[in-house]
Amino acid sequence: MNNSHWLRLALILCLSPSAYAQQHTHGQGELLIAQDGERWHLQLILPAADALGFEHEAKTSEQKKAQHHLAHKLTHNAGVVQLAGQCSLVSAEHSLQAVDNQNHPHKHHEHHEHHDDNEQHHEHRHSNIEVTYQYDCASAVTQLSLPLFESMPSLSLIKAQWLTDKGQGVANLTSSQPYIAW
Ligand SMILES: [Zn+2]
Repeated sequence: MNNSHWLRLALILCLSPSAYAQQHTHGQGELLIAQDGERWHLQLILPAADALGFEHEAKTSEQKKAQHHLAHKLTHNAGVVQLAGQCSLVSAEHSLQAVDNQNHPHKHHEHHEHHDDNEQHHEHRHSNIEVTYQYDCASAVTQLSLPLFESMPSLSLIKAQWLTDKGQGVANLTSSQPYIAW
């Protein structure tokens, strides 16, 4: 195992997710998976444009409704990520929670350096939505799948990286191949 991989794992486990998410490409997200014995850490980073349909602060009642719907979906892992094994959800955290309370500073992660001409942005800002799950798994985990592709049709690719007791690897997950089998 090389040093850069350990550095990345340290970022998964210790630092703010946004420290890792330095890229922002619409249609593409990232999934980081780290096993520590029975504990599995999953971190998913999605462009707000795909997860929510917009990247700015929710203004209309329809947008606020969409935001609450997504927050609920992420908190309860309703069709986001599935582990095949005897696993129970220990914690779920996502960056939309801060947005729910308008009195708190927003945790949007904006990236001003990247603008594609074909993006239809009225405001020149981008944001990611990040969700972190911790699972305890009493059995081996034989597969991880991402049913979220079904509810986020503009999402075309999730770049997954994992570091488990069995080894490490990467995979590009798509709606036609939305899983990793170990
Ligand atoms: Zn964007």
